[in-house]
Amino acid sequence: MIFMFTVGSFGIAFLLACGLNWLGLIPWRRASEAHWTERARLLFPVRISAAINVWVIAANVAVGLQMFRSDAALAWLGPAFAAWCGAALSGYMLDREIWPGLSLIRWFGQFLIYGMFWQAGLLLMISGSLLMPPNFGWQSWTVAGVLLALILSLIFGLALTVLRWTRLVQPASPRVRDIAFQTAQQAGANLRAVWVDEGPAAHAFALLPMKDMLFSESLLRRLSDNELASICAHEAAHLIESKWVFAGRVLGAMALYPLVFICPVSHQFGLSGVLVLFVAGVLLISLPRKLAQKMEKRADAAAVRQTADPVIYAHALEKLYETNQMPAVMPKKNRLIHADLYDRMVAAGVTPGYERPKPSPRTSWTTYPLAVLLGLQLGIMISRAQDANEQEAARKGSSPPSLSQQSPEWPLLSSEVSTNNPNTNAPRR
Ligand SMILES: [Zn+2]
Repeated sequence: MIFMFTVGSFGIAFLLACGLNWLGLIPWRRASEAHWTERARLLFPVRISAAINVWVIAANVAVGLQMFRSDAALAWLGPAFAAWCGAALSGYMLDREIWPGLSLIRWFGQFLIYGMFWQAGLLLMISGSLLMPPNFGWQSWTVAGVLLALILSLIFGLALTVLRWTRLVQPASPRVRDIAFQTAQQAGANLRAVWVDEGPAAHAFALLPMKDMLFSESLLRRLSDNELASICAHEAAHLIESKWVFAGRVLGAMALYPLVFICPVSHQFGLSGVLVLFVAGVLLISLPRKLAQKMEKRADAAAVRQTADPVIYAHALEKLYETNQMPAVMPKKNRLIHADLYDRMVAAGVTPGYERPKPSPRTSWTTYPLAVLLGLQLGIMISRAQDANEQEAARKGSSPPSLSQQSPEWPLLSSEVSTNNPNTNAPRR
């Protein structure tokens, strides 16, 4: 039964996500003759919604199954994971619209690269919080300790090592290495190694803990030597950031770590404890982000200073954005680390050959129906849990305690909280 649910969830999630992306892309397809900045502006919200939908579809499956198969704890896990995979695979179809002819293997390689650097820590934290026992004790500290060690190892080189073992990341060619080392030396940076990946997206990263640089082949193909040197100057500026800035960046990467204690904290301190955890998480995310935004401006200024003609750096940036079809002006009040391309070009002393585009919308409508469905399911689940609590309280002949006291277990793992199964709700002797 669960096997059928799992296979079905994968297929339905894939088709649903593909269908929603296809519908969301209609305005973008109609603008096939428009300037690339306008096309990127129309594409961006669909991409963001597609990424959010992967999680919302999986959450819908998890909550739906938890309601209907509440007699079996964790019955939701396999189908929800399958739904996540199916919806994530729809990203391949979407990326093929941006990079026609993109092979599944190349797409999956890039998926793993971004996943290793940005999602693996998050996934570990989610698994850690699910494994966390409801009480503080040696088990909870062991889970927390192992998790901390794993996440720190990922940040300090494990992610790169895995990518090297799997050959997704390879040493750069002599041309790229020479340019990178020469530019780093001029900037006074201690560059250790230069890596290249085959991803379809254009990207350049300074891997700060290792003092390495990573470029995508698709970016290198489009840049002249001088343009590449200007991008290297930007990355080299990151490599000479102070130890304090680096510590702030690591703190930002660990921002969600306190949330692994959500289960024991909610058990021991109730809702107020959970709120404190969330506030800590938000603070840990927002403070280092401000720092990172400042560092991006500083790196841009350094790149302009170090490049003989600022137009070279501005053009290199424009090629990067154009390859990725990223908007020249992001949604209003965006909290991204990088400034808008248009402003970065102006700051480099170059006036782009087109008007400042309108900011891109934040998300597409395609997320709303999924979010409404999830909200409805959660509403039903919570009201059922409350009914079950009241019945239990009436049976004991006492006033109903609050939900947080009644259900100390992690809500998604608990089979009793939300059950509507008459057998599990029957009075026990
Ligand atoms: Zn940067």
